[in-house]
Amino acid sequence: MIIAVDGPSAAGKGTVARAIAKQLGYHFLDTGTLYRMVGLAMLKAGKSGDDEASATAFAKALDPSLVREEELRSENVAAMASKVAAMPAVRQALLDYQRQFAKRQPGAVLDGRDIGTVVCPDADLKLFVTASTEVRAGRRFEELKALGQKVHYESVLEDVMARDERDASRATAPTRPADDAILIDTSDLTREEVLAAVMDLIAEYKKG
Ligand code: C5P
Repeated sequence: MIIAVDGPSAAGKGTVARAIAKQLGYHFLDTGTLYRMVGLAMLKAGKSGDDEASATAFAKALDPSLVREEELRSENVAAMASKVAAMPAVRQALLDYQRQFAKRQPGAVLDGRDIGTVVCPDADLKLFVTASTEVRAGRRFEELKALGQKVHYESVLEDVMARDERDASRATAPTRPADDAILIDTSDLTREEVLAAVMDLIAEYKKG
């Protein structure tokens, strides 16, 4: 079984996707980390955000087993990730790994922007998780603070809005719900409420 969880940044999709995978004993892939790894490699090499040749080379050489979570979580890396993610050749280079991952047994949960539309259009269940921009920026702000980063809410809000705009307006694989995705707005829900709602949906699906 393949479960696709898409949505804009900081909507809570990672948390819910990880929790579903754990409850079901499925494999979990946060596809944003792949783009973040390419973004981080670009920053470390001092490349600019429009250098498609370098970004593509980094994407092709990527080893997803080398994920170093802490390094990937800054807003700098997120912004660069969103720039390289707009490049079709970068997306193409990362596609095969994601599709192979999705086939893992007994099932896989993938979270991202284009899982239901491009990576796994045949996913068994597609969720599109959203929340208001302010709620998302607030959550990201708390997350970064908890990581010990010095951040201001206003600049986090600006970053979130700029990244949403770039991710939703790009020509290749923009963030959007698949036609058959179920929309979940987490603005006024706790983690536990979101998880309970999603587990109900999965139980419904399994009943047929
Ligand atoms: O989800 P996360 O914030 O970690 O993603 C970082 C960036 O990677 C996003 O802003 C987006 O540009 C890109 N991304 C993408 N497609 C995915 C996952 C992430 O374009 N499936």
